[in-house]
Amino acid sequence: MMNAATNRSREEQRALGIAAEGRVQRDDDGFTVYATGIAPEAFRVWDDPHVGVRCTCERFDAAIVRDEAYRCEHMLAVTLAFGPPDEFVERACAMRASGSERLAG
Ligand SMILES: [Zn+2]
Repeated sequence: MMNAATNRSREEQRALGIAAEGRVQRDDDGFTVYATGIAPEAFRVWDDPHVGVRCTCERFDAAIVRDEAYRCEHMLAVTLAFGPPDEFVERACAMRASGSERLAG
């Protein structure tokens, strides 16, 4: 097995957990991502046609001003659960057609 864990950022590790537990829900405007924790918070992730993918969490807010390519764990979890942004809609439609399948597990 490759030693991939060391290459993963903290965001990626958290995203894997979020996606694995099926904490990502799609709706008409984007995604709701439920963070892991004792008191799980819900964050909104959506694809803004002008500025790209956004998230409502504080970490994204703080990081995006320094790094336009920053992706918080919620965005990464959406990508893990639904694939790259241009496949978001396609996958979601396919899932809806095949019933309410769980995302993981
Ligand atoms: Zn976020």
